[in-house]
Amino acid sequence: MFKFVSAAPPESVHVLRDPSSGLDGVIVLHSTRRGPAAGGCRLWSYSSSTEAAKDAARLAEGMAYKNALADLPLGGGKAVLRLPPGPFDRRSLFQAFGREVAKLQGSYVTAEDVGTTVSDMQIASGTCRHVAGLTAVQGRPGGDPSPWTALGVFISMQEAVRRKFGADLKGMTVAVQGLGSVGSHLCGLLHGAGVKLVVAEPRSDVVARVACRYEATIVGLDAILDTKCEIFAPCALGAVIDEHAVKRLRARIVCGGANNVLATDEDGYRLADRGVLYAPDYVVNAGGIINVAAEYLGWNTEEAEMRVRQTGQRLTDVLDFADRKGLASHHAANDLARQRITASQPGWKMEVV
Ligand code: NAD
Repeated sequence: MFKFVSAAPPESVHVLRDPSSGLDGVIVLHSTRRGPAAGGCRLWSYSSSTEAAKDAARLAEGMAYKNALADLPLGGGKAVLRLPPGPFDRRSLFQAFGREVAKLQGSYVTAEDVGTTVSDMQIASGTCRHVAGLTAVQGRPGGDPSPWTALGVFISMQEAVRRKFGADLKGMTVAVQGLGSVGSHLCGLLHGAGVKLVVAEPRSDVVARVACRYEATIVGLDAILDTKCEIFAPCALGAVIDEHAVKRLRARIVCGGANNVLATDEDGYRLADRGVLYAPDYVVNAGGIINVAAEYLGWNTEEAEMRVRQTGQRLTDVLDFADRKGLASHHAANDLARQRITASQPGWKMEVV
């Protein structure tokens, strides 16, 4: 297998400082070749501004790849805000954040991410119009993106089992790690398709409810990796597939909603070397960003759903490319995304309705 070494430098970095509201962060635009750089706003505790900027650069690059492979007319960017050390006024913080996003004149589109909520984005939208992930308006895309993310993952699983086993999902066993918004929606879809579910989740009320509803077997948080199953679906944390996990895993396919599933690039090669089909995370979990894009670009729900339903074909394209070039799937996804970004013509016009 060839090895992949990251990464292109970002197009621009914008430092955000507003001492009166406590705003301290950065917006990184990795690429605007395909369109406005879209990616959420993370509010998290960082030990230094450098740590925050590094994380933003990594996440912005990931968004550029995800948006390119989802065929969205969007580039990739990310805002990372440092969580103020003491009490702070959330309204002032997100108003100040909105003003900073507005200064970028539509080259960056924000939305919620880890540590931020729909209501934070509603506040930011009071000072800036380049905000998505707002409360859904009747009959239009918007609101909670997780059902769309789950649908894209489900369709990708159908594609992956066809490819790996020449079969459909009925009768297969899927081990789902994490029953939050994406994991529980995914369990509903899998149950409907006749799949046997094994689940792990630290919240006992949630795991009991899902197990009851979808006839799932509950296992401990650590035991989910050793579960005898065809598919392992990480829907909680990142970096769950590391060297140790690859050795324990009994599944033949890894396909889930979580971001940054591979602890390191090496782990993608380890999976490939063991014959495990890894469905690259940002290819299969793009349903959420498709919903956000639809909201921002003014597409209707049918258009959004049609695009989410194409996720399986997009996975096939990546896996075919990997086979043709003799690459591990995560490497193939990165290469294809870079090709798409490089091939796009800069000079887009915003199509905001
Ligand atoms: P969530 O916070 O609603 O769910 C995460 C769940 O994982 C929680 O129920 C939590 O209790 C559980 N969990 C925590 N530690 C666990 C452990 N050790 N083992 C098993 N379960 C554990 O988040 P979500 O919105 O469902 O997103 C899940 C993942 O998918 C995240 O990695 C997120 O970044 C990614 N993702 C989500 C979306 C979306 O539309 N929500 C889109 C793309 C990617």
